Amino acid sequence: MRQLPGVLVVEDEPAIAELIAVNLRHNGFRPTWAMDGASAQRELDAVLPDVILLDWMLPGESGLSLAKRWRADARTKAVPIIMLTARGDETDRVAGLDAGADDYIVKPFSTKELLARVRAVLRRRAPEQAGGVVKVGALSLDSSTYRVSYNEQLLKLGPTEFKLLHYLMQNAERVHSRSRLLDKVWGDHVFIEERTVDVHVKRLREALGVNAGAMIETVRGAGYRLTAHTAQPVPSAVVIPAPAVVIPDSIRDPVPRQPWIADRSPQ
Ligand code: CA
Repeated sequence: MRQLPGVLVVEDEPAIAELIAVNLRHNGFRPTWAMDGASAQRELDAVLPDVILLDWMLPGESGLSLAKRWRADARTKAVPIIMLTARGDETDRVAGLDAGADDYIVKPFSTKELLARVRAVLRRRAPEQAGGVVKVGALSLDSSTYRVSYNEQLLKLGPTEFKLLHYLMQNAERVHSRSRLLDKVWGDHVFIEERTVDVHVKRLREALGVNAGAMIETVRGAGYRLTAHTAQPVPSAVVIPAPAVVIPDSIRDPVPRQPWIADRSPQ
């Protein structure tokens, strides 16, 4: 089961914090509350939330200064921040966004608006948390059930092919270099040759079949792109050049070759 998205609420007024927390809890989020920057920092050191709701006017370090600091910190820089504040003029709004906030809500706000904005930043920053299904053309991928289908026909993919397709679909129509795909799909801490990407793209095209497979284009000298606008189906064997490189088995292929059952979670 997926974990509920965690929201760190940094707010010194207990009544407002409580109101926000109750609404978040009733709408499928896991709120935690910090009264000031120091306790918020302790929370962040322990567990990274999916979103931070950050009041501007706090005792001690201001929300603005905290936003700047968290944006500069490698551990927290990718966590979306929504600033909460009574200040509504344009200069302040710009200052908040310049400090690295993703969005800005002026008090008093409706809880409906707050929830909508939390969902919106989650969709932008972590699409897999905000809703399972991504669609490109006739291709559909549901990350909560691990199902992939083309024209309503279920397809079976290996776990790496699934992750690769998920990334390409979330970033469709853009060209991705092999090193970027390695970084995004395999993780930058793993030492794998770029040729591995070609192997998995080839396997992904085979699993997708001729028509859906043709949606993954090889862009010469640049990398790969998933597009809804295919010219015509191209057999994958023609598209992929196979450089004669000898790779030790230990790094050639981190994924076993067994067919993957689409409706089971990967390891
Ligand atoms: Ca305050």
